[in-house]
Amino acid sequence: MLTITPVAALSDNYIWVLRRDESSQVVIVDPGESAPVLKYLADNQLQLAAILITHQHYDHTGGVAELLSQYPYIPVIGPNRAASDVALSIDLLIPDLFTYTVGEGDTVFLPELETKFDVLEIPGHTLDHLAYVGEGLVFCGDTLFAAGCGRLFSGSAQQMTASIAKLAGLPVETKMYCTHEYTVDNLGFAKWVEPENQAILARDEAEMAKQEKGIVTLPSTIGLELETNPFMRLQQPQVKMMAEKYAEKVLTEDWQVFAALREWKDRKYD
Ligand SMILES: [Zn+2]
Repeated sequence: MLTITPVAALSDNYIWVLRRDESSQVVIVDPGESAPVLKYLADNQLQLAAILITHQHYDHTGGVAELLSQYPYIPVIGPNRAASDVALSIDLLIPDLFTYTVGEGDTVFLPELETKFDVLEIPGHTLDHLAYVGEGLVFCGDTLFAAGCGRLFSGSAQQMTASIAKLAGLPVETKMYCTHEYTVDNLGFAKWVEPENQAILARDEAEMAKQEKGIVTLPSTIGLELETNPFMRLQQPQVKMMAEKYAEKVLTEDWQVFAALREWKDRKYD
């Protein structure tokens, strides 16, 4: 069995630790810092076997250099799009730290986990953004969040809409591991958009109860997101109507609905 454990980092990041059965070798996704990873490894007598990176934002890569100083021979796998293409961010990983760079259609073999992940390109939050998909799981970084999605940094609304649609096409039971604990905040916005959506109201109550007890609200599933995430529900009449109300015009394309929702959330809610 593959177990996935969150290690909390920075203010609200999760570094996901992947482990096969009782193996002492683990793989991690998006180490924004090294100290909590090194502590987790020491506390549990584990060794690091590989690092996966979804995109080159500092809060996903900031721990790589220090981890490599402790584990110099492990592979670091990240986007094949150069960091210089990731506009608007100065906090970038030096791309030389990647042992292998990957893109759409590539497969990442992880012998220590006895598994492989398919790579999807999901630009929008940044142009280099990847998802790793396999074993009924998806690691989607800052593209899709529980009940929300990432902001647009170097990608466009069209790209983000297409990327979210790509994730929506995964089997509904796929477990979704994003990088931030934003679920309850995101549900607040989802309730603004769809105040009558019973699935959102029920989820809001359930996730709030978890948050009060300090329980991680992730993973989600693609199916739950399809029911409760406004950014995955662009064609729902209520969602479209609210986006049009915000934009004060008729929106004909999904990406226009997306852009209005994203701008509304950025301006009025975040
Ligand atoms: Zn990011």
